[in-house]
Amino acid sequence: MDAKPTKRRRTRKPDSASVPNVEIASPDATFLEAISVVEEKRTKEEVQIAGAEDAARAEVETVINVLIEIAKNTRENAYAPYSGYCVGAALLATDGTVYGGCNVENASYGMSICAERTAVVKAISEGVRDFEAIAVVTEDAGTPCGACRQFLSEFGTDTMVILADIHGHYTLTTVGELLPYAFRLTDVKS
Ligand SMILES: [Zn+2]
Repeated sequence: MDAKPTKRRRTRKPDSASVPNVEIASPDATFLEAISVVEEKRTKEEVQIAGAEDAARAEVETVINVLIEIAKNTRENAYAPYSGYCVGAALLATDGTVYGGCNVENASYGMSICAERTAVVKAISEGVRDFEAIAVVTEDAGTPCGACRQFLSEFGTDTMVILADIHGHYTLTTVGELLPYAFRLTDVKS
């Protein structure tokens, strides 16, 4: 594992913040650091916010910004020597845990895995199956590939999808919007 032939290996960052035994302290930005950065920004914004609706919207924006920050950090771990297209994902479970993921390519191209599926696999392997949102960060706010859309739809079509670029600009959609008429085995049986 340590022999991973990446040119810019960085210190491993925790990306499953509420999972026990995951080290939080790190020289790189962590989940907690990301929260503090957004919190600081939010405090400034909240001074100008009077209504409850605006406060609620600010709350959602805070979560979105935190997820983008985590996805951005996880993207730094992407192993993409063939395409050069680095992707980071941050999957928010209903219990508040965030699972990071990056794309991992392989000399045998077809074996490569996307950031979104990496994050989902990490969550499922920890026994977590209910998700609220997933942020995907690429250089140009690219959208998930068809395989990832199908993979995500297995665990809910209402999951919010945040498509962001590395500067933090984002658009919102859902898994259902990205993949209408997703394949389901139950469709075959009925
Ligand atoms: Zn994909």
